[in-house]
Amino acid sequence: MPDFSELGLAPELLRAVADEGYTEPTPIQAQAIPHVLQGRDLLGAAQTGTGKTAAFVLPILQLLKPMSSTSPSPARHPVRALVLTPTRELAVQISESAATYGRHLPLRSGVVYGGVPMPPQQKMLLAGLEILIATPGRLLDHANSKTVNLSQVSILVLDEADRMLDMGFMPDLKRILAMIPKQRQSLLFSATFSEPIRALAQDFLRDPITVEVARRNQTNENVRQVIMAVDDRRRRQLLSDLLRTKPWEQALVFVNRKVEANRLGDFLHRDGHTVVEIHGDKDQKQRNRALAAFKAGEARVMVATDVAARGLDIEALPAVINYELPFDPEDYVHRIGRTGRAGALGEAVSFVAPDEMDKLSLVRKLTKAGLHMEIPLGYEPILLDFPRDLIAKAQMIRLQRGRR
Ligand code: AMP
Repeated sequence: MPDFSELGLAPELLRAVADEGYTEPTPIQAQAIPHVLQGRDLLGAAQTGTGKTAAFVLPILQLLKPMSSTSPSPARHPVRALVLTPTRELAVQISESAATYGRHLPLRSGVVYGGVPMPPQQKMLLAGLEILIATPGRLLDHANSKTVNLSQVSILVLDEADRMLDMGFMPDLKRILAMIPKQRQSLLFSATFSEPIRALAQDFLRDPITVEVARRNQTNENVRQVIMAVDDRRRRQLLSDLLRTKPWEQALVFVNRKVEANRLGDFLHRDGHTVVEIHGDKDQKQRNRALAAFKAGEARVMVATDVAARGLDIEALPAVINYELPFDPEDYVHRIGRTGRAGALGEAVSFVAPDEMDKLSLVRKLTKAGLHMEIPLGYEPILLDFPRDLIAKAQMIRLQRGRR
């Protein structure tokens, strides 16, 4: 792996990187940064957790450095780089990275997203900023009310493009693309290279460099993946007692539906755990508060739905629990990617009831790494339907029970 100093980054940026304590670039950074600095378009296959944010934020800061200005005049601070991202949480994280890595440069950056009042964002936009991070809907609201002018954008980033398509942002993206100059540098990041993503890339990148970093989750040997056979009626109790038994400092629990997130959070709370929930029915303030509490360690458990958890940068969680298997096996890969990051050991535990065998077989196809089966005594279902090879090597485990 090359050193950061070999990537062609300016001293101000190297200093910011050193401030963060990074010693060497991640693979996506080493591969992407030199090309982006040369002005090339980029198609990057990388998920959150690979260091992809710095892979585009660092070179963008450098490319904009010659245009930086200490003048207070808004006219001297047009939007020059636009980063579009599907979720508010991801937008906030990218803007935090832009502030962190840009701290030694006089460039302004800011973020706009929906679910919060417009006026503070309008005020920020009218004051001028070079780097704007936005979710598509809210950006259009601002464009329509003429508080933002995108005619000087020279760099465009689509982050988590696959999620943006999944979430139905394509029409919004098209509208935004029509507002920014055709002459520009474009970077597209996506966790998957599905057909729609290839089509989007064709439309919108010119002679791109393609950079693909290993799907962490499929290759990540730092994650022990466990299938825990459970009787459907004992799921909640199993979760509570598992959390009581395991020494995990924190755990992220995934559920498939928003209502379940609330119910489960309430149950865990009553059963003595510190817990926050994050899902689409919470407003932005509540979600920010929940995430902050979890990051600060005030809550040991966070219950989340897939969409709400997308792109959240929560470092090196010791455990991810699938309270139920997701409908889409890709989501399984995303979920377990939240543990075992950057060399730390992690555990991904999936509760599986007999009626989930279809979902289980899809997950098994997708994960090359072996799955261990554990049978929690006292919560287990009738095992008839489970795959023989898993049962043959299954381990019995005993959990500590709560006061009930
Ligand atoms: P990302 O994939 O951009 O969400 O980044 C995941 C995490 O890795 C973030 O918490 C970054 O602060 C961290 N990170 C980014 N680049 C490096 C690096 N070169 N060395 C160590 N950590 C990094």
